Amino acid sequence: MTMMRILSKTNRSVLQQFAWSSVLLAFDYDGTLAPIVTDPKQAFMRPSTHALLEQVTQRYPCAVISGRAQADARERLQGVKVVSIVGNHGLEPWEGSERFVKEVRGWLPALQQLAKTLPGVRVEDKNFSVAVHYRRSRAKKKARRAILKAAVGLGPVRIIGGKAVVNILPFDAPHKGMALERERARLHCDTAIYVGDDETDEDVFTLDQPGRLLTIRVGSSAKSLATYCLLNQGEIDELLKVLLELRAGGEHQQRAGG
Ligand SMILES: [Mg+2]
Repeated sequence: MTMMRILSKTNRSVLQQFAWSSVLLAFDYDGTLAPIVTDPKQAFMRPSTHALLEQVTQRYPCAVISGRAQADARERLQGVKVVSIVGNHGLEPWEGSERFVKEVRGWLPALQQLAKTLPGVRVEDKNFSVAVHYRRSRAKKKARRAILKAAVGLGPVRIIGGKAVVNILPFDAPHKGMALERERARLHCDTAIYVGDDETDEDVFTLDQPGRLLTIRVGSSAKSLATYCLLNQGEIDELLKVLLELRAGGEHQQRAGG
């Protein structure tokens, strides 16, 4: 099925319906708010996105649900007043998730050993999960295969693919969909808009809540369960602008009624 463009004129009413409800705006970070770059450490929002998001947070409760460690994500959102930052694909913070730390630590020696044999492969210890990056590898297919094989050998794990990364999580770890639901309830919002670009975001897209959850994928994909899309990451600015317009002057409540 072809995904519908959320920024098309005909779908403006869909955005409006959500914008005028008690909505939580939730965003993935990499590939969504910030462009994908070769070195994940260098992934930052464009100044225009940063400025727009800052304004959007003054009109909507906003959350970021990222695969990054929570502290890492927080550092990249400095100056932006989001009400919630969730890291590690939804499991940081999560009640009782400390038990995962020990499990994850046990995986590291084998993965680090493997990385030594694969040039351009880097193991990122995120405390509650591990990301094995291979964007800098010159033999990406081979690297990916070797990483996946090693991940399966670790025992019961959940593997989430991504853009030049293999994410390894405890098999029973809470995911982004659960994190979004929890944050929406905690913040007393009736509805949510979620924007993401990758495999890990499918945990949100798969939640089937017509009228309550608006799912937007960055980049159209036939395999994705998201209902709407942005054509590319650059369109995030346009989406933020439209959301701002829909709550211009803080009159949305009255206008929604009339
Ligand atoms: Mg992403």
